Amino acid sequence: MARHVNAPVTRVVVIGTGIVGLNVGLRLLREGLQVDFVDPRPPGSGASYGNAGVIAVEAAVPTGMPSMLSGAPGFLLRQQGPIVVKPAYFLQALPWLVRFLSACRPHRVEQISTALHSMTRFALEEYERLFADLGLDDDIRRTGALMLYHTPASFQGAQAAIQLRRRRGANIEILGEKEVRDLEPASGPVHRGIYFPDYASLDSPQLLCRRLAERASTLGAIFHEAEVRSIVVAGGRPVSLHCSDGRELRLDGAAVIIAAGAHSKGLAADVGCDVALDTERGYHVEIANPNITLGRPVLVSDGAFFASMMQGRLRLAGTVEIAGLQREPDWRRADRMVDRARIAFPDLRATEWTRWMGFRPSMPNSLPVIGASPLVSHAYVACGHGHLGMTLGAVTATLIADAILGRDPMLDQNPFAPRKLRSFNPRIHDARAHRSTHSPKGNKPCNSSNTRP
Ligand SMILES: Cc1cc2nc3c(=O)[nH]c(=O)nc-3n(C[C@H](O)[C@H](O)[C@H](O)COP(=O)(O)OP(=O)(O)OC[C@H]3O[C@@H](n4cnc5c(N)ncnc54)[C@H](O)[C@@H]3O)c2cc1C
Repeated sequence: MARHVNAPVTRVVVIGTGIVGLNVGLRLLREGLQVDFVDPRPPGSGASYGNAGVIAVEAAVPTGMPSMLSGAPGFLLRQQGPIVVKPAYFLQALPWLVRFLSACRPHRVEQISTALHSMTRFALEEYERLFADLGLDDDIRRTGALMLYHTPASFQGAQAAIQLRRRRGANIEILGEKEVRDLEPASGPVHRGIYFPDYASLDSPQLLCRRLAERASTLGAIFHEAEVRSIVVAGGRPVSLHCSDGRELRLDGAAVIIAAGAHSKGLAADVGCDVALDTERGYHVEIANPNITLGRPVLVSDGAFFASMMQGRLRLAGTVEIAGLQREPDWRRADRMVDRARIAFPDLRATEWTRWMGFRPSMPNSLPVIGASPLVSHAYVACGHGHLGMTLGAVTATLIADAILGRDPMLDQNPFAPRKLRSFNPRIHDARAHRSTHSPKGNKPCNSSNTRP
């Protein structure tokens, strides 16, 4: 049902070519719109490059759970732990952390879980629709996923999340050691496993992004290699993008969609949106010729990382480090995953590996921000997908397409709606006047090819 008040949008400019921006652009291309992408880096180079590739269908558990209220700040400051705040970043992170802890209250967790589930339940269906629409091979493997709990205490600690999933109707099976071993013979002694038969996985998240970008290109999308420093707004709508190389990209009536992952906060502010975004940095190591193989992604829960097979390589991906966009990676966190994997998979012989660090775009309440700016017309935000960006790419695209084309949304969008930035005046706003730079050092690739024997 169309509800256009202004002239319908026929052209959009998408900032960011991660999994979210690519999905949004492709969906709009299929709707007959003209699409331009702007990104200084090749498609799928940000967080969408190095993640664990899990499509967490029906996931309904936020990062912040009630048990964290009693454990904080102790466990957050334990530098060896799987979730850590770097002391030098603590003060900067404080507003985000306060909101994070507020979202850990039991009644909020229930609301957040319901909202997350309203999206994740459509994750696979929306990807299938996209692939069918585009005539693309379906890249998603129906593998399920397994979570390992090595001690009674860690399994006990997972009970609240298990109950939360059950309240959302999730399909989960609790397994004993023999059943775990039957499913994944490479796993060592374990107390319990939780099997998610409906989860799916990717053989290469980056390859999926590349294929989506190639298809967008054949459908007529234009890719601009540029970093957007600010969005210039005049007369209540965006008129141009100011780039870090001095270029001005005129929008000429096009709508703008901010899908710049962890770097979206300042750009969202340019169009009047208050997005409480920070980053939960995550790491991966990749072992080229592993002597073990896994049939599905396996979460090593006490290390907070997934072990997944990626085109024959073994990738260990996960952990959370709150340290902002500017600081150098702490590669010891990556190496610790290898130490932990050797215990979870006793036959694993790893002598060489590559390392990577990426920026999850994380909201303190684990809910992505998706929808139209409440203050600037023709401006949309699609960011903050945290741990679930690969899962939610296609659903996000449908929500943005519904918003742009004035259709009834497929689900209640209110929990994801961008909030107004107080004191923003859309008539007189010109981002160049108040922000000297958006360019984050963290937007550079963070790879380490140095391997540790
Ligand atoms: C270790 C790890 C494991 C993960 N595992 C999973 C998983 O198993 N399943 C899952 O669903 N999710 C997982 N995630 C989360 C997922 O990777 C992210 O949520 C998702 O990739 C975010 O996609 P995005 O498109 O929003 O951002 P990104 O992929 O980061 O893309 C943003 C793009 O915007 C560009 N950009 C930034 N600033 C500008 C600018 N100023 N101008 C123009 N372009 C700009 C960047 O260059 C980049 O290409 C994991 C993340 C990590 C780090």
